[in-house]
Amino acid sequence: MNILILGAGGREHTLAWKLHQSPKLSKLYVAPGNAGTASVAENIPISVNDFDAIKKAVLEKQIEMVLVGPEDPLVNGIHDYFLNDMDLVSIPVIGPQKAAAQLEGSKEFAKKFMARHDIPTARYKSFTAGTLQEGFAFLDSLEPPYVLKADGLAAGKGVMILSDLQQAKHELEAMLIDAKFGSASTTVVIEEFLRGIELSVFVLTDGKGYKILPTAKDYKRIGEGDTGLNTGGMGAISPVPFADAAFMDKVHQRIVRPTIDGFKKDGLPYRGFVFIGLIKVDDEPKVIEYNVRMGDPETEVVIPRIKNDMVSLLEAVANQGLDSITLEIEERAAATVMLVSGGYPEAYEKGKAITGPEKINGSLVFHAGTLGEQGRIITNGGRVMAITSYGKDFKEALELSYKNIALIKYDGMNYRKDIGFDL
Ligand code: ATP
Repeated sequence: MNILILGAGGREHTLAWKLHQSPKLSKLYVAPGNAGTASVAENIPISVNDFDAIKKAVLEKQIEMVLVGPEDPLVNGIHDYFLNDMDLVSIPVIGPQKAAAQLEGSKEFAKKFMARHDIPTARYKSFTAGTLQEGFAFLDSLEPPYVLKADGLAAGKGVMILSDLQQAKHELEAMLIDAKFGSASTTVVIEEFLRGIELSVFVLTDGKGYKILPTAKDYKRIGEGDTGLNTGGMGAISPVPFADAAFMDKVHQRIVRPTIDGFKKDGLPYRGFVFIGLIKVDDEPKVIEYNVRMGDPETEVVIPRIKNDMVSLLEAVANQGLDSITLEIEERAAATVMLVSGGYPEAYEKGKAITGPEKINGSLVFHAGTLGEQGRIITNGGRVMAITSYGKDFKEALELSYKNIALIKYDGMNYRKDIGFDL
């Protein structure tokens, strides 16, 4: 089978690495890809949102399945684009249709979905410019800190957590009246602050059946001890030690099953990965957010722990045959550490030569922002590469990743040395 992966990050390199191991794979393409995906696939230099160019490539290269990495093309309707085109309709797209992708594309939509299906989440209300005064009154009724969320996609920056009531009111006004996040903040969700520890649960569904994939915990802040600015993710571990069988049973019964049933009841067509961001509050799981694709860097620890043939799994998603598959999970833990550019997540330079990845022993190297140029690899983004290892527990896995990271060098290289510090 010829498969195309859309995306260019560590997530896509990991998926490409896994698909590449399948005897069912004929040819793998990644668009646009990076220096890592180029080692296991052919990169096609087109944007994930240029659907016409994707169509041309799919037909030219006789691609038989498309796996969508990031959320943007899903929210923009790539799956629907395929279904509505006579030449593409028979080619399965792994990722939900636009209607279901709203679970990530609109926080208000996600909150209404959870309310409708009785899925535990923070209490909330949503507001628009016309209801600003009601928004102020709702803030008055809450205890600090105040959680304000721009409804639409805002590149991971649309959530504000503020301890001061006046500042929260000021930000609400900036979002609703001054369009702080453009059209993404035409509607703002204000919700109750939940105190607890976060984790991510991933589900693969064919719209009928589903498989719960390994849990993961990611580390988003740039600084040690979870301090400083938010990033795309600085590292992750899997499984999450505190997500024991009793807790996961609650997650399954109260969250995963009602979510998949909810898709069916609401007529939301969903074939793909569901990422459920959870927070554990006094032993009870509550949903913080849904994403309609795998996470990055969680993919770099979740996918390496799945033993099944990946092409078979994706075929089962496309053919609604997941129920007949038994998921086989690697017993060992996995941990990944993201190497980033100096200055990231603020301004940083690109084009720094990377040396050492070839010396690594016993770890997996998943490229994110890298570019192959004249036989060498250079940095090409804020997050540069993820170093994943296995171990009897995440600590042992991390030890190996850190040992191997010492072999990698580039100007300005930075990474967190405390992944898993809170576990
Ligand atoms: P991401 O970049 O993770 O996709 P996002 O912009 O989609 O983020 P959320 O995941 O909804 O937004 O929120 C971002 C972060 O804010 C969460 O990971 C969590 O740490 C914190 N957060 C969100 N909602 C709450 C809440 N109700 N109580 C406490 N913390 C919250």
